[in-house]
Amino acid sequence: MRGGIHIDADTQLITALHGEATDFVPVTSVTQTATLEQMKASGAAWPAAHTDPHKLYMLANTFRSLTGIPVIRIPFEITLEAEALGCALNMGKMDKTPYVNEPVGHLPDSVPRDATSLGRVSVILEALDLIEQKVPHDVPVVVGVTGPFTLAGHLAGIENLVKWTRTDPDTVQEYLTLATTFLNDYLESLGTRSVDVVSILEPSASTDMISPSAFKRFVMPMLKELADATETTKVLHICGDCTPILEYMAQSGYSGLSVESAVSVKKARRIVKESVSLVGNIDPVSVLLQGDHDTVAEATEKAILEGIDVVAPGCGLAPATPTENIVTMRKETERIVNEYQ
Ligand SMILES: [Zn+2]
Repeated sequence: MRGGIHIDADTQLITALHGEATDFVPVTSVTQTATLEQMKASGAAWPAAHTDPHKLYMLANTFRSLTGIPVIRIPFEITLEAEALGCALNMGKMDKTPYVNEPVGHLPDSVPRDATSLGRVSVILEALDLIEQKVPHDVPVVVGVTGPFTLAGHLAGIENLVKWTRTDPDTVQEYLTLATTFLNDYLESLGTRSVDVVSILEPSASTDMISPSAFKRFVMPMLKELADATETTKVLHICGDCTPILEYMAQSGYSGLSVESAVSVKKARRIVKESVSLVGNIDPVSVLLQGDHDTVAEATEKAILEGIDVVAPGCGLAPATPTENIVTMRKETERIVNEYQ
């Protein structure tokens, strides 16, 4: 409620991501949401929920029904793009996300025609159709998409790609160009469905993997190209302490930056000023997985007081995360927002 007028959850989230909200802080997740408790409650578990559109929808929707956080966020992993471009996957287990078994190891000649009919892209599109039919339209729909550097790393082998940023920049560019061409096609197909937020996930472009100058030189132009290609509200997530590259992330064309707890929200705000919204940064491991009510309450309050625009887990949820802790994150956000209004 704002001034006695009810504002839809999707309007709240989009407004906050565009930096226009001054008196409310929504709570959401732009990273993977599924947990074992949700799998049990929905009867839709990993790994089947990665390949069956109905199970994917059921599991994603159960995050919303169990936690009360108004969002439906798919998928639960970051390998479907690599699979579409020819990587063999291990589909993981109930408590383990799929991973690339073997990089393609060579540069595919080109992005196959009609790339979006490949692999499990159709599973995502079908799940979005089910969401459109079954979920109230004021619930924000968030789709996670693997970023170009992470996808290029799946194709080339991440150790190779990281090494080539120093020794063979042309090959890095070739892989990135191919990855970005595919991602543009994929984003275009997502644009034919009702998607409120696209969340670009670039774990392999973290400062643990490549230098800030390599990020600026190789990754930022590709992220910009993707951002320019879609009108949908966009969030960029990079793992770890991304403080040294926040300035470049903020210049890449995304409305929101999703940051982990390693990033000080105060410091981040000084760097990005009001140019982008900050999303996060509740630690998914030490707080949401291992913490208790007080740990979650303290982390939530700290994030809000330091100026987070949207409260969310700082990275993907661990499958064993207790529902109770996610509910505490939501309730504390609501309590604090009401208190300071
Ligand atoms: Zn992360």
